Formats: sequence, C-alpha cells, structure tokens
Amino acid sequence: MDSGKKISVIVPCFNEEEGLETFHQTLIRFLPDQYHYEIIYVNDGSTDRTLQVILNLTGNNPAIRYISLSRNFGHQNALKAGYDFASGDCAISIDADLQHPPAVIPELIRKWEEGFEIVNTSRNDHPNTTYTKAISSRLFYQLMRKLSDIEIENGMADFRLIDQKVLQQLKLFPENFLFFRGIIPWMGFKQTIVQFNANERLAGSTKYTLRKMLKFAVTGITAFSVKPLRLSIYLGSAFAFLAFLYGLYVTYIYVYTDKAITGWTSIILSILLVGGINLLMLGIIGEYLGKLFMENKRRPNYLISETNLDIFPAQNHRTNI
Ligand code: UDP
Ligand code: MG
Repeated sequence: MDSGKKISVIVPCFNEEEGLETFHQTLIRFLPDQYHYEIIYVNDGSTDRTLQVILNLTGNNPAIRYISLSRNFGHQNALKAGYDFASGDCAISIDADLQHPPAVIPELIRKWEEGFEIVNTSRNDHPNTTYTKAISSRLFYQLMRKLSDIEIENGMADFRLIDQKVLQQLKLFPENFLFFRGIIPWMGFKQTIVQFNANERLAGSTKYTLRKMLKFAVTGITAFSVKPLRLSIYLGSAFAFLAFLYGLYVTYIYVYTDKAITGWTSIILSILLVGGINLLMLGIIGEYLGKLFMENKRRPNYLISETNLDIFPAQNHRTNI
C-alpha cells in the first residue's frame, strides 16, 4: 500500500569510507515499504574515499542524493545542509556509523503518523562506551540544563525525525554556531522522545575528537545562555564583600597592633586569586564577543562544491528566505 508520502533521510559523513556501503544496505532494509524515499548523503569534506563510495551508491538512482561540501564544516553544519535541501514530507537525520540503529526508523515514522511533528531520540549507551565518554556526556547535559533554560534530555542524539512544516522554519535560523540538540527542544511543536540502544561504531573511529567535543560543549552552552556572563557579577560581588571584611581586619591590625608588616602571604594569595578570576571572566566575555564577531559576518554555514541536487547556480542557502 502506497501512502504517497516521501521521507528524506539525511546522513552526514566524514571519512566513513569503510562502513558506508554496509550502512547503506542496512538502512534501506529498514525503510518501510509504503513510503517514497530520498536519501541525502552529505560529504563533510572527507579526506578519504567517502565521496567515491557515495557516488557509487548514487549511480543512476535519482532517490539517492549527495551534497559534497567544500571542506570539513563539522557535523552540525553538515546536518544543516541536509535539512536545507530535504524535500520529503519529513526528514530523518542519522549517523553513518550504525550507532543510530536504522531498525528504530519505523518507530520514528509511527510516532510521526500519530501526529508528532518532532520525534527526538535519546540513547542508552552501549556497555562498551568508554567511561570518560559516558561521564563527560552526563556532565555536559547536566551543565546544559543548569545554564540554559532548555529541557535537554540526557543522551539526546542527532538522530531524529522532523516534519517538513518544522523544517521550513528551521531553515530560517541564521545562526552560525549551530547546536541542534538545543534548538530543536526550544522550537516547541508536538515533540516526543524515543529511546534506543546505541550500537558500537561499525568501522573507523569517532570523528568527535576530545577537541571537537570541547568546542561543541562550549558552543552548546554559549549559544543558549548568557548565564556564564552573570557569573562575573556574582563572583565580583562575593569578592568585594570578602575584600570589605578583610579591609576591616587590616585596619584593626594597623591601628591596634604593631604587627602591620606581616601578611605577605595573604597579599600574594589575594593578588593571584583576584587576577585569576579576572582572567577567567575576561575569557568568558571574550568567548561571547568572539561569537558576536563571527555571527556578524553572516557567512554561510557551509559551501557546496558538488551535488546532484538541482541547485546550481549557487544560491544563498543560508537563510532561504
Ligand atoms: N561527522 C561529520 N562531520 C564531522 C564529524 C562527524 O559529518 O566533522 C559525521 C560522522 O561521519 C558521523 C556523525 O557525524 O556520521 C557522528 O560522528 P561520530 O560517529 O564520529 O561521533 P560519535 O558518535 O563518536 O559522537
Ligand atoms: Mg558515532
């Protein structure tokens, strides 16, 4: 039975040559029959043969699309490229390494058919997930919830289904520092969450190095909250109060005793402490200032070097208004 609806599947790929073929075969096995599909592979500036593998998969099949970015723009920007050009009635984003099991896709679609406009997923970690990754992930989501006013679930993954109506409006987000896991819950609409058990990576190694993860965490927090800036007010007030108390004590020593030249240690300590806190606060302010500076250039989130979508001559694929 043909439902007449089309579903876009978006797969960001960065150096996934080893596993992509297997991924593709597994993916199509789990796509329910009654829908039409469009699979969009986004090659995020891979330095291996990923593009070659994608081109082989594409062949002459018009249902398999690819967008090859001009360099590595990062996972979130690659996702945005996919979202921007998805033409289905809904779009499902999924990692290329089978850590997001395609077997869950029918469940996402069922929820969509029930009337949900955004179907999020949250992952239960595979037992083999490294301890540091599990702990750092939990810490990160906790910090996010505390600092931003967004209810973001533990283990929220970039494996989700979004209705075309929502997609249209997601395209209007002009921000450069993308953090979909924060933007999506912020958007509202009818949302739900599906749990899944994460698999181990099919092939290759994680593309999220510690450096990329830290950068991602800082982006996630600073893109959603100005609370860290408020920290300087609290800390500043606390230290001003302490300084006042200490001032009373110092005056007392000076006026009523003859021990006034001792206290070298406390001077050095307070200089170091206050200096350190000053630098930290300047750093936080600098981080926001830097983001403002970059956003203000209004550069596109990604550039396309090659695609089989019908979009050239180049258009401004950033705001799509
Ligand atoms: N990815 C990408 N660009 C990047 C890093 C990752 O498109 O700069 C893709 C990658 O190919 C994979 C997905 O994003 O399909 C998730 O990356 P990965 O599996 O390495 O992250 P992890 O699961 O370890 O968090
Ligand atoms: Mg992965």
